[in-house]
Amino acid sequence: MTGDGAGDQVSGGESQVSGAGDQVSGGESYGDFEPVIGLEVHCELRTRTKLFCGCPNSFGDAPNTNVCPVCLGLPGSLPVLNAKAVELAMRIGTALHCDIRPSSFHRKNYFYPDMPKDYQVSQYDEPINVGGWLELPDGSRVGIVRAHIEEDTGKTTHAGGTGRIHGSSYSLVDYNRAGVPLVEIVSEPDIRSAAQARLYAAELRAILVATGASDGRMEEGSMRVDANVSVRRRGASELGTRCEVKNLNSLRSLTRAIDYEVRRQVGIIEKGGAVAQETRHFDEAQGATVAMRSKEEAFDYRYFPEPDLVPLAPDAAWQSEVAASLGPMPAERRSRVSELIGARGGTAGDGATSASQIATVVELGLDGLVEAAVTSGVDPGLALARAANEAAAGGDAARGLDPAGFTALLKLEAARKLSATQAKAVLAEMLLHGGDPATIARAKGFEVMDEGELATVVRQVVDESPGEWHRYLEGEEKLAQFFVGKVMKATRGRADGKAVIAALDRLRS
Ligand code: ADP
Ligand code: MG
Ligand code: ZN
Repeated sequence: MTGDGAGDQVSGGESQVSGAGDQVSGGESYGDFEPVIGLEVHCELRTRTKLFCGCPNSFGDAPNTNVCPVCLGLPGSLPVLNAKAVELAMRIGTALHCDIRPSSFHRKNYFYPDMPKDYQVSQYDEPINVGGWLELPDGSRVGIVRAHIEEDTGKTTHAGGTGRIHGSSYSLVDYNRAGVPLVEIVSEPDIRSAAQARLYAAELRAILVATGASDGRMEEGSMRVDANVSVRRRGASELGTRCEVKNLNSLRSLTRAIDYEVRRQVGIIEKGGAVAQETRHFDEAQGATVAMRSKEEAFDYRYFPEPDLVPLAPDAAWQSEVAASLGPMPAERRSRVSELIGARGGTAGDGATSASQIATVVELGLDGLVEAAVTSGVDPGLALARAANEAAAGGDAARGLDPAGFTALLKLEAARKLSATQAKAVLAEMLLHGGDPATIARAKGFEVMDEGELATVVRQVVDESPGEWHRYLEGEEKLAQFFVGKVMKATRGRADGKAVIAALDRLRS
């Protein structure tokens, strides 16, 4: 659950890099111990309005502007369930192979200022989605216990202290987020390493985006992860005592926090101690988890059925409509892209590079671009690289790229009518303002650089650096890059790197 009191202030907006790149130290090894991990993932749903009122569901607005009597919990106001939120929850459940069940809502009561009602409406003993699974790219499966609907809490900021409410001089509240629809996805304790937890979170994020339920932006808090971590001796069948690390908002924090927490617990057991069940918080700066509250301090939420909402029972017709409208999920789309590339005899880099590029384009929904380019004859390696790197860097705009324009650009590049540098500049412009690549290239003065012109520039550059040229002739191959750099500078990126090297070769022989 989200709003459980005293610790939720850590959630805030500290933004973390979430993307690819930061890999977990591959071979985590904890001696005789095995980590056991279950994740609880909160996902904000991409609805237009909140879960029980018509206030906008939007991030980053001025504080307390998206509020009304319902989400402020004023007396006499009544909630009305948002059908779109239910549909998105069913999309998530269907994608995770869950049973969709008749469900109901409870009030989870607690005393903390992040929720003006002093309770959070959540699904308790009758969640909408029950019992599914998620398959990871490495083929392993993680069970899903449930994926239920609940409302998000507001955001508190405690000033003049440690960031906790205790000891702060004053607190600020922003109720824009109070009542935003969430789905909480609870995994079975099937995860066995920090690296696998990361894979799970990344795959789940890709699925959430693919279903249209979420924008998957961990850095904006639209996907937040709580990690339940325990350790046990290898071969043991019983689960150890777990700690729950709250509110991890990047894949990097998730892996770091789990790795730290496993080592901490192993250390306690090796010294003959026992792990105490508690809720912990990950301190980014220290790279350590810190105790927040013990099991004894756990709140009694006094759950009781929400009297203002009727039970929820989506009928079979609605369920099949939702299932039919789901497109292929990331796993299927990844294999489609790799088959396509294999079939075209792709010159895509090494296997690991292209696999991670494929994962990126699918996660960002850019596989359509790659498919369009490759099926019309563009080299798969080039299509993948431009989509996974340059297009992906354009964020949301990348999804708006016209596949025909993207294809046309790559054809100009492949035909050497644009250098790589120029092609990237044109793509950046297409991401900003759209438009036809040839027109943009012309407007930027990127005319074709023919072999004759290039040869002249190469000759000039060589003449200016006789020493380097001599060493190059003597076999110092790495100096090729020195000359490429000079030519790029002289032509302001109009030259093509490969063409420069070919011209150098011609001059040498
Ligand atoms: P709670 O209601 O207190 O949150 P649950 O039993 O619903 O507890 O479990 C919450 C999460 O903790 C689930 O993701 C589950 O897989 C995980 N979990 C439960 N027991 C353990 C354990 N011993 N070690 C690691 N994770 C666990
Ligand atoms: Mg929990
Ligand atoms: Zn409202």
